[in-house]
Amino acid sequence: MNAPFQPSPLAAEVRDLLVRLGVAPDQIEGGRLLAHSPISGELVAEVREHALPEAEAVIARAHAAYLAWRKVPAPRRGELVRLFGEELRAAKADLGRLVTLEAGKILSEGLGEVQEMIDICDYAVGLSRQLFGLTIASERPEHRMMETWRPLGVVGVISAFNFPVAVWSWNAALALVCGDAVVWKPSEKTPLTALAVQALFERAAARFGDAPAGLSSLLIGGRDVGEALVDHPGVPLVSATGSTAMGRAVGPRLALRFARGLLELGGNNAAIVCPSADLDLTLRAVAFAAMGTAGQRCTTLRRLIVHEDVYDTLVPRLKAAYASVRIGDPRDPKTLVGPLIDADALAAMQLALSHAKAAGGGVCGGEPVEGLGGAYARPALVEMTGQAEVVRRETFAPILYVMRYRDLDQAIALQNDTPQGLSSSIFTRDIGEAELFLSSEGSDCGIANVNIGPSGAEIGGAFGGEKETGGGREAGSDSWKTYMRRATNTINYGKTLPLAQGVTFEV
Ligand code: NAD
Repeated sequence: MNAPFQPSPLAAEVRDLLVRLGVAPDQIEGGRLLAHSPISGELVAEVREHALPEAEAVIARAHAAYLAWRKVPAPRRGELVRLFGEELRAAKADLGRLVTLEAGKILSEGLGEVQEMIDICDYAVGLSRQLFGLTIASERPEHRMMETWRPLGVVGVISAFNFPVAVWSWNAALALVCGDAVVWKPSEKTPLTALAVQALFERAAARFGDAPAGLSSLLIGGRDVGEALVDHPGVPLVSATGSTAMGRAVGPRLALRFARGLLELGGNNAAIVCPSADLDLTLRAVAFAAMGTAGQRCTTLRRLIVHEDVYDTLVPRLKAAYASVRIGDPRDPKTLVGPLIDADALAAMQLALSHAKAAGGGVCGGEPVEGLGGAYARPALVEMTGQAEVVRRETFAPILYVMRYRDLDQAIALQNDTPQGLSSSIFTRDIGEAELFLSSEGSDCGIANVNIGPSGAEIGGAFGGEKETGGGREAGSDSWKTYMRRATNTINYGKTLPLAQGVTFEV
C-alpha cells in the first residue's frame, strides 16, 4: 500500500486540470503507477494500471467496435473526428498546460502539441471524403479493374513520453476515419495527458451519438501491457513510437504473426552549414532545433557539420547563445529549456559527455543545474574532430556535436554515416548545393529540409525515417493507406470468360 497521497500545489494543479478535462478522480488516486512531474520531481498522481487480463477485454471490445464502425460511411466517421477537434480547441489551454506539467516542455510547445492534434483532426475530416483508389485498364474485354480501400481492424498505438498526445492523434485521427478502432498504450512516464485525451474523446463520442463503445480506448501500463498489444492476433497494425531498442523488440514479434508494424524510432539528425548560408537565420534555426524541448524530440538537431570557412564565425556565436539561454521552470514564459524527463535522462547525458571528452571532444556547457527539484542541465555544445561512436548514438538530451568539413560530398557522407535516418537539413543559398542534398546522392533520411532545422514538422507531410528509425510514415500525404486494407477488384460485365495472359481452359 502506498502512504496516503498528500497533494503539493503542483499536484493540486494537475488534479484540477484533469478533473476539468473530464478525468474521473478514481483513475488518478490509489493506483500503482506513480506519475511524477519532471518540473520538480514531485509525485502528482497515482494512476490505475491495467492488469494483463484486462488488456484482452479491452482489445475484444475494440474489435466489436470496429465491426460496427466499418459499416459507418467514412464522411460520417469524419464527423466524429470533427467533433473531437472541437473538444480539443475548447480544451487547448488546459491540455497544453497539462502537457507542460507532465512532460516538462515549455508552455508554447505544450500548446503547440495540442495544436498539432487539432491540425491532424482537420486533415482527417477532409480525408474522410478522399479515401480513393485507382481504376486500372484491364487486358480482358468487358472487364474493369479497380482498387478499393477497406478498414483494417483494431490499430494498436504505443507512444513515447516526449510527444505524449500528438503522436497518438496522428494515428487515431486517420485510423478513425479509415474505419478502424484504436487501443492506445501511452508511455508509463506520461499517462495523465492520455487519460485527459481519452476523456475528451468520450465527450466527442457522446455528442456524436451512436459511436460504438470501445472505439478508442486506453491500456495504461508499462512494457508488459505494450507486449500484450503487440502479440495479440486481433490487432492487425501496431504503430509504435519510441527508442530503437523498443523497435528492435517489437518489430520481430509483429513479423512473427505477420502483423503490420508502423515503427517511429530514434533519430540522430544533422544539419550542414555551407559557406553561403545566412548565418543569422542558421543560428536561430540551430538554437531551436538543438535546444528546444530540452533536446528531447526525435527530430532534435544532434550533429552540426559546418564548412571551415564559416566555422569560426558561427560556432562562437552559437556558444554565446548556449551560455545565455534561460533554463528553468517551463511554466515561466522566459524559460527556453525546461527539465529532462527524469534523473536517468540526466545521467545518460552526463555519461555521453564523458564519452565525448574521452574521444577528444571540447565540451561547452552540459553541467547539471541544481536546486530546481527536477533533472535540469545546461545544453551542451561539443566540438568534435570526427564522428566518434558517441556521436553516432542517439542520446536523448540537449547535446549538439559540431564538426568541420571542407567538401560538400564529405559533409553529406558524414551526415549519412549513422545507423538512424530520421531528419536532416542544409543551410545554403546555393541552389546546386541544396538540390544535391535533396537528390538521390544527398541525405538518406525520411525528412530533408533546406534553410530550416530538422525539427518542427507539419502534419501535411508524411513523417518518419529510414534505417534504424524504422521506416514508418505517419500523418499527411498518403500515410493513411497504412491504416487500411487494399483490395484489387476485377469485374467482368460481359458474357464470356477470357483469361488473362492468353491462357485457355475449356471444359
Ligand atoms: P521507449 O522506447 O523507452 O518507450 C516508448 C514506448 O514503448 C513506451 O510506451 C514503452 O512502454 C513502450 N515499450 C518499450 N518496450 C516495449 C516492448 N518491448 N514492447 C512493447 N512496448 C514497449 O522511448 P521513450 O524514452 O518514451 O521515448 C524516446 C525515444 O522515442 C527516443 O529514441 C526518440 O527518438 C523516440 N521517438 C521517435 C519518434 C519518431 O517519430 N521517430 C517520435 C518520438 C520519440
